[in-house]
Amino acid sequence: MNRGQTIRAIKGMRDILPPESALWEHIEQVARSVFRAYAYQEIRTPLLEATDLFARGVGQETDIVTKEMYTFDDRDRQSLTLRPEATASVVRAYIEHRLHEQPGVKKLYYMGPMFRRERPQKGRYRQFYQIGAEAIGSESPRVDAEILEMLLVLLGRLRLTGFTLYLNSVGCTGCRPQYLVTLRQELAKVRDRLCPDCQRRSETNPLRVLDCKVAADQPIIDQLPALSGSLCAACREHFEQLQGYLKDRSIPFQLQPRMVRGLDYYTRTTFEITHGALGAQNALLGGGRYDGLSEALGGPPAPGIGFSIGEDRFALTIGAVPNDLPLYIAWMGESAYRHAAEMARELRAQNVMVELPSDPVKLKKALELASRLKARSVLIIGDKELAEGRYPLRDMARGEQRIVTKPELFQQFAGPAPAPLPSFAGAKPS
Ligand code: AMP
Repeated sequence: MNRGQTIRAIKGMRDILPPESALWEHIEQVARSVFRAYAYQEIRTPLLEATDLFARGVGQETDIVTKEMYTFDDRDRQSLTLRPEATASVVRAYIEHRLHEQPGVKKLYYMGPMFRRERPQKGRYRQFYQIGAEAIGSESPRVDAEILEMLLVLLGRLRLTGFTLYLNSVGCTGCRPQYLVTLRQELAKVRDRLCPDCQRRSETNPLRVLDCKVAADQPIIDQLPALSGSLCAACREHFEQLQGYLKDRSIPFQLQPRMVRGLDYYTRTTFEITHGALGAQNALLGGGRYDGLSEALGGPPAPGIGFSIGEDRFALTIGAVPNDLPLYIAWMGESAYRHAAEMARELRAQNVMVELPSDPVKLKKALELASRLKARSVLIIGDKELAEGRYPLRDMARGEQRIVTKPELFQQFAGPAPAPLPSFAGAKPS
């Protein structure tokens, strides 16, 4: 690379800048508080894992594993992969740290970047972010109902509307193989009329044909036998119980018998939420049960269920959060600066967001800067104000100014209860 030539972010990977980052922070804060209310705890797993984890966990024949992973050999020749999703990692950690020995269902949540080498477009990136939760250690449909309730509470807290929850059961290792035999037989009859991808899938991963998006294939796929008709008695009962629990909670859902999702580990309950505002990439989140995943990764039986929200898409549907600045302190002169810095420190100790410019500027310029920073109020401190202990406070929207004392200022911005100032006692004296 030539010196001086600019370096840009890699295709499909982007910077999240302010003010958009404020929205991301908001989403994450709300998610953490909802997860905490349902007694989920955070897990942080490495971004790099052994490639085999995803090959065995997500499935050899899935799009993710066959075409989308960032895989490379480490210097010691071990094949490593940037995680394309987190469930396999969470279950690996569950096994590795013997979390099954702890009592009850293990409820974990995560948030962070995932990597898939897909064709970038709006709502689809090569580094994207997921917020997800996993409940491991029970196959009860009550766990499914609770996790779906939590998910809908989260969407509600973020004031999301206009979405649909699609629900399906993809059966278990007992009943799905028989369905696959029937499906393969039926697919063989119509194979030549399907799109090239589905022709391939009908051999390698026939279930995936069911959620093909190609318009011309739809009437043919509609005629294929539905998985719901082949569920064993236990899977049917599980699915019916879940629907009952969702109805108890008045959670609206739509059955979607063709929804199979792109990862092989799913068993029984699968779900997806789509949002109209997202366009082509309309899947906001997806999830389901993975009762056999732990065993596939060499662990003990540990049935589980989880979901993963695409945070990038979430941010697209929610729109902006307010990012204005409550208070800007304009100062004129060195003594005014020192006074302003103390005032700012006191206000910030009470969690008031305050901007204090570090370079001296004339009042007119300070007001322009404050306006560009979307300041709601500007406090003006000069020598005269310093001497009198009374300050002009400008309401930027109204363009009006009134004179306030320090207690009045604190009453307005910080509320009645003063907090102690930080003492910096933790810092060693030099
Ligand atoms: P999955 O792990 O494939 O079930 O995806 C769960 C959610 O992650 C999807 O519903 C999307 O919202 C999001 N997602 C998946 N892949 C991407 C991507 N390449 N870019 C942005 N979001 C994605």
